[in-house]
Amino acid sequence: MNTASATAANDLFPATHAEALRRLDIVDPAEYARSRNALDGATTGLSPYLTHGVITLREAVARLLQRRRLGFDDKLCFELAWREFFQHVWNHEGERVLQDLRPAGLWPGRYTPALPADIREGRSGVPAIDAAVRQLYATGYLHNHARMWLASYVVHLRKVHWRAGADWLYGHLLDGDVPSNHLSWQWVAGTFSTKPYLFNAENVARYAPLPAFKAWQSRGTVIDQPYEALDLLAREAGDCGAEPGVHAGVAEPALCAAPPAGLIAPRAPAVPPPRRDVALVHPWALGEPPREPGGGPPAWRLGVIHLPAHAALPWSEARWRWVLQRMAAVTDAVFIGDLQDAAACPPLPSRAAVDATRAPLPGYDAALASVATLRPAPRLLPDPPTLCRSFSAFYGGVKRQSRSLQALLNGELF
Ligand SMILES: Cc1cc2nc3c(=O)[nH]c(=O)nc-3n(C[C@H](O)[C@H](O)[C@H](O)COP(=O)(O)OP(=O)(O)OC[C@H]3O[C@@H](n4cnc5c(N)ncnc54)[C@H](O)[C@@H]3O)c2cc1C
Repeated sequence: MNTASATAANDLFPATHAEALRRLDIVDPAEYARSRNALDGATTGLSPYLTHGVITLREAVARLLQRRRLGFDDKLCFELAWREFFQHVWNHEGERVLQDLRPAGLWPGRYTPALPADIREGRSGVPAIDAAVRQLYATGYLHNHARMWLASYVVHLRKVHWRAGADWLYGHLLDGDVPSNHLSWQWVAGTFSTKPYLFNAENVARYAPLPAFKAWQSRGTVIDQPYEALDLLAREAGDCGAEPGVHAGVAEPALCAAPPAGLIAPRAPAVPPPRRDVALVHPWALGEPPREPGGGPPAWRLGVIHLPAHAALPWSEARWRWVLQRMAAVTDAVFIGDLQDAAACPPLPSRAAVDATRAPLPGYDAALASVATLRPAPRLLPDPPTLCRSFSAFYGGVKRQSRSLQALLNGELF
């Protein structure tokens, strides 16, 4: 366990709804549009909160609109829509997003199925890559550009299959999200886009500006080449390997298929009171408990970690700590185990009285549906009934259907 980095990540991103609101209230959409591509730009750090449903996109946009003007053509809205686009693809493709959505067709060789130790340990010798790995382990967060650089280097220069990189990054991010993460890796790799994404040292120098990002500058390394040369490397060369010489590394924090012991104190009784409806609260639905205006008692909230689903895509200790801390704060009890094991699971009322939303991790929906009535995950943008394979087709459709974000919030569609 690497408790030091777990604590740093949790300090940077407190697992509270208040922190999500604080981050939203300081967003300036114009400044975001101007600077979001730079590592020191005005990005929001909202991804752990959106990924885990601490705040929904609908709530986030409603909050933004209270203070700011925001339209479909604003950069921030556009980026938030990418998130919903990836969820849309997940809703249609499900677990298929874990495999090449179309043949790579770029490089005729066989991509390696495992991430090399020099990359995992931040000692590839390419400063931008090693600095990104260090930051990932220390904070559980990376800027979008750093994610793109990592993915591009791993796939196109080191000839590692995107899936190995995607699983690894997913595990270490606080915001690791199968639809956004695995589809972004496929987008970089060219299995979910029309061309591969490449970058060079000049691109790093531009978006990781001096003096703050001195440690990221990568002149004189394999990425310090014109795009034509990098394109040839991606298409024709094998693994370009780590840079010559010995490079100091960093220990990779363990990825755990189950929460490390002692992260939350057990609370008794973990049994729903008689005749109460039950809401299952999984790790992607960690919103504030609803207040029932004048109605009956709100549903009894049972946090659920369905362990079998986590075995294939394990999480860092920091991620487990974050999720469990938040889950404990918004539920009446937490169940960690196999939801389909009737002997271990708390006794639940009939399925009609148990509510859950869909979850974006393979294995969860089937388990949730075995005990609960399953609803779609909340969305802001309409979810087209047929699959849109490109973001532009998806977003064009959204804009044709709705007059404004406020109209969408009001449920007004053309
Ligand atoms: C290889 C790779 C892996 C990624 N993995 C994830 C992941 O696991 N989880 C995740 O939430 N995002 C992922 N992204 C998308 C994006 O990098 C992050 O959402 C963003 O960097 C999070 O930081 P932020 O909240 O400060 O973003 P901001 O720039 O402040 O954006 C605000 C919100 O908009 C959404 N958003 C912004 N850019 C994108 C994008 N390109 N794609 C999808 N949504 C976006 C996110 O919900 C984000 O929180 C990945 C991108 C790449 C290239």
